Amino acid sequence: MTAPIIQFLGAADTVTGSRFLVSDGNYKVMIDCGMFQGEAEINERNSEKFPIDEASIDVILLSHAHLDHSGYIPALVKNGFKGKIFCTEYTAKIAEVILIDSAHLQMTKAKYEENKIKREADPEVIYNAQDVEKSLTHFNVIKVRERIEVLPNIFATFYLSGHILGSTYIVLEIAGKSLLFTGDLGRGNHPFLAGPDKPPTTHLDAVITESTYGDRTHDSPISDFGVEILAAIKRGGSILIPAFAVDRTEEILFELRKLVDAKVIPSLPIYIDSPMADKVIRHYREAITNATLDIRPEIAEEFKVIDPFDPGHLRAMTSTEESKLLNDITEQSVIVSASGMATGGRIVYHLENMLPDPKNTVILVGFQARGSRGLQLQQGAEKVRIHQSWVNVQAHIANVESFSVHADSNEIISWLKNLARPNEVFIVHGELEGQEALQKRIQTELGWKAIIPMLAKEYPIA
Ligand SMILES: [Zn+2]
Repeated sequence: MTAPIIQFLGAADTVTGSRFLVSDGNYKVMIDCGMFQGEAEINERNSEKFPIDEASIDVILLSHAHLDHSGYIPALVKNGFKGKIFCTEYTAKIAEVILIDSAHLQMTKAKYEENKIKREADPEVIYNAQDVEKSLTHFNVIKVRERIEVLPNIFATFYLSGHILGSTYIVLEIAGKSLLFTGDLGRGNHPFLAGPDKPPTTHLDAVITESTYGDRTHDSPISDFGVEILAAIKRGGSILIPAFAVDRTEEILFELRKLVDAKVIPSLPIYIDSPMADKVIRHYREAITNATLDIRPEIAEEFKVIDPFDPGHLRAMTSTEESKLLNDITEQSVIVSASGMATGGRIVYHLENMLPDPKNTVILVGFQARGSRGLQLQQGAEKVRIHQSWVNVQAHIANVESFSVHADSNEIISWLKNLARPNEVFIVHGELEGQEALQKRIQTELGWKAIIPMLAKEYPIA
């Protein structure tokens, strides 16, 4: 038996674009098939030719639904991938929402570009709605913690990772070797999601770990959010929260409801201004009602009939017209909108509208990548560029880190500690600082061999 080879086709020198290929000479297994997201230069990689023949990939194992893990699947299908895509029930459900939105976003952007340069040709998109529809037929739902044969003599087991609804880490057994892919690892303190599952104690030849927060620790308690919300209410203006549509929005609503229930804050009108968030929240509600394994049992019990995400005055703004109404609202309110890094989406219009007023507060609750508008705000920019003009930042900018759904370096290390010592650890899904910091800790604290892999290079699993 020849040793399997792993190749990192993304998330090797950046946080996004998770695409890992493992082959045993006969079969090619792909773990995650994500989109690159970030600065223009990184985004452009999505349009580059895929480095291997798409039709030669036999199966995809999908750790979770986030775009940087699932977003390239329709392109792969469009270009010849014929195999099955294995994932959990809620990964399939949320991926559907995310991929449809992604196709829509590309069409809108392409049309805009087309108008700008007045081209006659069809707008160029990586994939469209039909490609998404076709790719959804490849999805196969699996049960967590059950070992399944994904190809002849190739096995995979998915475990809960506690990062978002449906998220998993995956153990792949191929050509006599055992590889663990952490996917995105949750922190074990998610307010309503269970997990991450304890790692298996069986022998592992390689661990492929994320390192989003590999150089950081989150010490702040979740109540930081309450403190900021209270201060924002006292400031008298409205509150704008850029939030990822998947999971972060639910976490914020859950926390707001807790604060209202505890009478820490009054019940303000809360607007969810993201059609995608509105769709995803339904899946979260369903999972809680059905008390699936993803959900903490005590939460499922408590919220059998009560809506965990509605503190009393929740309204989802689904159409563009409804979204525009928010510009004229004078009553103090909370707007939760996407994208989480304020790089696009409806949040940009709200920032334009709300940033110039010193009474307003913008609360940043997520990871802000290099080059994002969110990072500029986080770093105290006095003005930001929106729609070709400069907008003065007069509003108060608050930063709450405690919402992270990624394990920090302490949490990754203590989770890894439970594993039987693997032969090697590959550190992916981080910016170089995070990768290097985690590499150093794995080497010195665990005494394990830790590698920061190079993009596209092949590594035989020893
Ligand atoms: Zn993720």
